[in-house]
Amino acid sequence: MSKLQMSKLQETFLSGLSDIYDAERQLVKALPKMEEAAENESLRSGFEMHLSETKNHVARLDEVFDQLEEKPKKKTCKAMQGLIEEGSEVIEEAQGDAALIAAAQKVEHYEIAAYGSLQSWAEVLGLDEVAQTLQQTLDEEKSTDEKLTQLADMVNSEEAEPADTGANPE
Ligand code: FE
Ligand code: FE
Repeated sequence: MSKLQMSKLQETFLSGLSDIYDAERQLVKALPKMEEAAENESLRSGFEMHLSETKNHVARLDEVFDQLEEKPKKKTCKAMQGLIEEGSEVIEEAQGDAALIAAAQKVEHYEIAAYGSLQSWAEVLGLDEVAQTLQQTLDEEKSTDEKLTQLADMVNSEEAEPADTGANPE
């Protein structure tokens, strides 16, 4: 993109890309902690799988910046910082899998919103190849969100049972 005459939307697009780039990199560090904290086996492997997808999301963004002949701006995604901080509280306080899934879904919804905007901006800007790349990531975020919803159905009903205090052995 020509730096001399960048449109407002091109600038918005570039800073949005830089923001989600930082967000994805924060997630690469945070997801292993969530995996470790998960009790449910399927949830653990879900986090493991999404970690490798997330690494790929970073790689795709590198590709996008290359295609645009741009570099990511140094930017901290404060929203993701906050979401991860809340996730850390869930882990520290051992709130359990239902709370962990909710924290993870808040992250996915943030990503879905971000990639949704980025994808449509890329289309408007006539960046078809970039738009397709962003769409791939958007699809993966959506399917992760759906998988988390399915896992929540299982975990929520387990956690809805009265806690076993071990006080009444039979
Ligand atoms: Fe992602
Ligand atoms: Fe994600």
